[in-house]
Amino acid sequence: MALSDTEQLAQWVEDSQHIVVLTGAGISTESGIADFRSEDGLWRDETLMTSMSEGFLKMFPREFWQQFRDTFWVPEYLNAKPNPAHLLPAMWERRGKNIQIFTQNVDGLHQLAGSTKVWELHGNIRSAYCPRCRERYSMEDVIVRDVPRCSWMNIKGDICDSILYPGMVLFEQSIHHYIEAFDAVRHCDLLLIMGTSLSVDPVADLPNHRPHNTAKMVIVNLAPTYLDGEADLVIRGRVGEVLSQLLEP
Ligand code: ZN
Repeated sequence: MALSDTEQLAQWVEDSQHIVVLTGAGISTESGIADFRSEDGLWRDETLMTSMSEGFLKMFPREFWQQFRDTFWVPEYLNAKPNPAHLLPAMWERRGKNIQIFTQNVDGLHQLAGSTKVWELHGNIRSAYCPRCRERYSMEDVIVRDVPRCSWMNIKGDICDSILYPGMVLFEQSIHHYIEAFDAVRHCDLLLIMGTSLSVDPVADLPNHRPHNTAKMVIVNLAPTYLDGEADLVIRGRVGEVLSQLLEP
């Protein structure tokens, strides 16, 4: 009997040693988090796009932080729970598979699901940092202040006092961990792309660096991507819904 698409995916996971999972906003919409870059996504709102930039933060820190609070420090994010698209890679990892996850999401749901090898290409909303002394903060501790500032003190007792940046990548900033992602993709034997339409560079280009002769590429997404024609398997649908069939307790 022929395997169904999801059974085929499960079989390839079984047969693979180095699995790279590339995820985007499409896997978190089912956890109630809006997709920024989709047709009706938040980033369509030009004002928000401008106000979540480094330039705006430098010029209008109070307005920036208010906007951050109103957009990201909300129940939608803070109470979000992982769905099968997050839980499945975590389950594979528990079973001994080497799963490296590179995500464009800032919600931390992969870690909440139990995955331990997660690289957040766009950072995350749970932390903040000082651009001057690089001191890191838990967002929870600093968000209560109108304009969060660095409290690091030097040996002479001077406080740094610089205005903090959120841990997520802002417009005008470059993504994190690209080298690690590039390297992982070059050495994988299965590349699983989920919930991203691969429309934003440089992430969109990453899959092109897979070992074409040996690695399988699987795309699970609601909308078509420019790489569908090259993929070994394309599963169209809501990612969490599709993958829930593979989830076992
Ligand atoms: Zn500082």
